[in-house]
Amino acid sequence: MAKLTVEDLDLQGKRVFLRADLNVPLADGRVADDTRLVAVLPTLAHCLKAGASVILASHLGRPKGKPDPTYSLAPVAHRLEELLGQPVPLAPDSVGEAVEAQARQLEPGQLLLLENLRFHPGEEANDAAFAQALARLGDCYVNDAFGAAHRAHASIDAITRYLSPAAAGLLMCRELEALGRILGRPERPLVAILGGAKVSDKLALVQSLLDRVDTLLVGGGMAFTFLGALGHGVGRSLVEPERIELARQVMAEANRRGVHLGLPVDAVVAEGPESGEGRAVGIREIPAHLMGLDIGPLTVARFTHALSGAKTVVWNGPMGVFEKPPFAQGTLGLARAIAGCGAFSVVGGGDTAAAIKQAGVAEKIGYVSTAGGAFIEFLEGRTLPGVAALGERS
Ligand code: ADP
Ligand code: MG
Repeated sequence: MAKLTVEDLDLQGKRVFLRADLNVPLADGRVADDTRLVAVLPTLAHCLKAGASVILASHLGRPKGKPDPTYSLAPVAHRLEELLGQPVPLAPDSVGEAVEAQARQLEPGQLLLLENLRFHPGEEANDAAFAQALARLGDCYVNDAFGAAHRAHASIDAITRYLSPAAAGLLMCRELEALGRILGRPERPLVAILGGAKVSDKLALVQSLLDRVDTLLVGGGMAFTFLGALGHGVGRSLVEPERIELARQVMAEANRRGVHLGLPVDAVVAEGPESGEGRAVGIREIPAHLMGLDIGPLTVARFTHALSGAKTVVWNGPMGVFEKPPFAQGTLGLARAIAGCGAFSVVGGGDTAAAIKQAGVAEKIGYVSTAGGAFIEFLEGRTLPGVAALGERS
């Protein structure tokens, strides 16, 4: 990797400003899922062991540029304390003299967690003055927040103009390495599977993947716009009429390039997501008053077959409304198929990662990304601001 990494830095006695993605779901004032906290532990441990003190920073939720106790990082401090087995004091703010004094007092091996960066409008505005105020807290900069690297915010982008060296953390390195394997020279055949709700969220991704993959399988809500383009009646399923023409172009393009594009051949239908049960019907037999909420068992079998022999697999987007048990089987079945196909697999997206956990197959997946938006933008082939801002290895 050409980027400077935390392992290249001399950390002894230094104060490391560590930008992490600690944007975890909360419930009743506690961390409901600590995956993202666990993911940053290797970088934290590396810095603390190397004799650095760490000023740890993150955003949480969308507090609209002003302090809001609902979005305090206090629950994160509490959970990190349990995970690390050492005190994680929470600063009252992310900038200012009091916080600077706290940062200066840190001994090697000690940690200070800053309060939510988005309590200041300067964070999302990529504001120079706010970035300078953050930069004053550290001697060097490490970014481990791959999940936020698609955003040019002050703690991700502007700060690197005032604080150097700027290096990638260990999680950032792992993410770039795993996702880079999809964009670089993947072992073929390369199979991509896309799902989720809407085509419009993922059009650029579909187009970028067409350039790279041997097979593209499409499920979830977005499949119905493709099926609509083929002239199928899809009942009340999620269709984006204004994207039908684009779906048609994508299918023509796949054909031209010799990319196999697989669509559902059956669907689990019901009146709506809240229906307690659904039934599988052929894709040409969706009743006009029902909607497709999952791929059916024939499609799971087809997609599983399409995965056999694959050497590399990338997956984003559930195959159905998997949050509801009657419509989860397609997504869980596909998760098991990917885990069992023997390929190097990369999975990303918040909901998709949750489905992998639910299926209990996380250990058999090559890499489960902690990112959603950044995962998609990276695979679209875009340069992420948070990666571009990091220093180069000399
Ligand atoms: P990720 O978070 O992994 O990137 P998305 O957010 O793009 O995934 O998509 C997940 C959402 O798509 C889920 O909330 C799921 O209920 C929804 N979804 C999947 N299939 C359908 C469908 N057939 N109809 C409506 N919504 C669907
Ligand atoms: Mg999602």
